Amino acid sequence: MKKPLIIAIDGPAGAGKSTTARRVAEHLGYAYIDTGAMYRAVTLKALQLHVPLEDQALGEVARNVTLELVQSPNGQRTILDGQDVTDAVRGADVTNAVSIVAACPTVRRAMVLLQRRIGNDGGVVMDGRDIGSVVFPNAHVKVFLVADVEERIRRRLAEATAQGQAASESDIRRQIVERDRLDSSREDSPLIRASGSVDIDTTSLTIDDQVQRIIDLVAAYHRTYDLISTFGSL
Ligand code: C5P
Repeated sequence: MKKPLIIAIDGPAGAGKSTTARRVAEHLGYAYIDTGAMYRAVTLKALQLHVPLEDQALGEVARNVTLELVQSPNGQRTILDGQDVTDAVRGADVTNAVSIVAACPTVRRAMVLLQRRIGNDGGVVMDGRDIGSVVFPNAHVKVFLVADVEERIRRRLAEATAQGQAASESDIRRQIVERDRLDSSREDSPLIRASGSVDIDTTSLTIDDQVQRIIDLVAAYHRTYDLISTFGSL
């Protein structure tokens, strides 16, 4: 029985984190945790309650919601106060506001606590912006996924079109550029490459390639761990 690992996958919107993380989790029999959906769910609640988008009020919302992340054959379902909001959190209103909500330290504290509780025993692939830097700085495998911004815009547009959303290229470009800016420049837990991360540029990789690279990193981790355990016991 192999040790259940914590695998952290960070990177900007459209770099391929969620598809890759979900496929890696499936392959390993791990849980896939999409932490972006958690920030989106808090944002949805704040918008429903017409709460001002400022730290104290949003922190109150984040502390009072019940968030459940349920594993299903099609990936994670996000349950907010008993309601399945998996699709609702992908709407344009939430996407436009989420980076403002996620910049609030009180919101982040509540989410990080929950993420640590979920992932602490290992057997998880967690994706987000600060998983390898803040949530699990000692994650066994850390990956920083990046991709050219034009390619990220192209992917998001294809995704929106496939889901029947009426988004134009200029809307998506604006959302991605603005979220990159807010996520990278905020004071609390900005999007950065965590120390010890392996960079994977997905611009011209297939999903299969991306998944395989991470599976190779996991296999390498296990080999090193087995060696250390063997020599340690001699
Ligand atoms: O991954 P996704 O694009 O759904 O994330 C939505 C937003 O949630 C990001 O733009 C970012 O503002 C925030 N987020 C974060 N920290 C995470 C995951 C997401 O700040 N670990």
